Amino acid sequence: MQKELLSHPVFAMAAEQFDQVADFLQLAENVRERCKWPKRLISVAVPITLDDGTTRVFYGHRVQHHLTRGPVKGGLRYHPSVDLGEVAALAMWMNWKCALMDLPYGGGKGGIACDPRSMSRGELERLTRRFTMEIMPFISPEIDVMAPDMGTNEQTMAWITDTYSSRTGYLVPSIVTGKPLGMQGSAGRTQATGHGVAFLSSNALHKLGINLSSTTAIVQGFGNVGYHTARTLSAYGVKILGISDVSGAVWNPRGIDVAALRDYATAHGGIKDFPGADAIDPEEMLCQPCDVLAPCAMERTITAANAGRLQCRILAEGANGPTTPEADRILEQWGDVFVIPDILCNAGGVTVSYFEWVQNFQRFQWTEHEVIGKLETMMQRAFEKVTSFAERHQVSQRTAAQAIAIKTVADAKSLRGLFP
Ligand code: GLU
Repeated sequence: MQKELLSHPVFAMAAEQFDQVADFLQLAENVRERCKWPKRLISVAVPITLDDGTTRVFYGHRVQHHLTRGPVKGGLRYHPSVDLGEVAALAMWMNWKCALMDLPYGGGKGGIACDPRSMSRGELERLTRRFTMEIMPFISPEIDVMAPDMGTNEQTMAWITDTYSSRTGYLVPSIVTGKPLGMQGSAGRTQATGHGVAFLSSNALHKLGINLSSTTAIVQGFGNVGYHTARTLSAYGVKILGISDVSGAVWNPRGIDVAALRDYATAHGGIKDFPGADAIDPEEMLCQPCDVLAPCAMERTITAANAGRLQCRILAEGANGPTTPEADRILEQWGDVFVIPDILCNAGGVTVSYFEWVQNFQRFQWTEHEVIGKLETMMQRAFEKVTSFAERHQVSQRTAAQAIAIKTVADAKSLRGLFP
């Protein structure tokens, strides 16, 4: 299993990061092994009838990295590139994210290899319901709580809730988070990840003594995270110079109207040819001068090929794993870019997911004001923890964030003993 996982570049990257931090922490060999490798890897075949009457078998995965500190928590992704190695890496990062934020969870991640953009609503519903049936023995509000990720949304979560609840015979809203508001979702959950990215970017700007109102940003990705990052930064008064998505990239030195771009993307299926901006090469866009560069798309987009050419002051990682270890080394040597690492920067989503789960148990709804207020308090606390650890130990912000998180998990394992 270990060899197979390591052959996947994204898992190899997560493992390399882990090894570095485990060395720094001088973790004992047995604790290191137990923290590094996933507890459970579940792969299932998901046959469904397509709209044309034919049958197609999709393959889905769910990786439960560890359950030491509570149920596993993490998204479910629909994307053509999904495979077990990628899902296992994302599950490992979810661990560190939950531990860093002090949420009572282990990390999990799931995914189905499919292209949701080319599937009908009916096909997506059948796929989601069948996948839920297949993994039913392995999930519950106390074992594994899924949430939206790339290619899934609140409708996906509503279908999972309904499929699970038809088995139990009563509504179990706490089985997933990121549900629609009408189905006991939480106020503030949709914008939570992007809001957190923008909020921590403003904290970092403040720390560097840069005045928010005269700053500029570039956002890679215009899904839920990218859109809400751009929207919130723009609401803070930051000028959004460039935005990209799978269809291309747009650029406007006077600032992009984010709401107009969103309307255009919804109507045209992408941002390409948006009349309120010029076209720019998506790779070149990343290397333009700006204060905040926010990669909010796939893993491994900041690599050895472009890291040395970045001209941002702050790298705000809205995506999971956007920066490779080689790129990290370049950024560290150079020392000019303030990195807000993924497990901190994009933790707003899972933090409000936690609030949603708590509200579901309480059978009570908090207001958006309460949710965002609590979110900002927790993110600010984690930000300060990470920056002061990095300064104290003279390590990168990524090493600091992962060290705090891995130590939390390792300590919990030592307290509990060998079982978890
Ligand atoms: N998919 C999101 C992430 O990567 C959210 C996970 C959750 O809310 O459980 O952090």
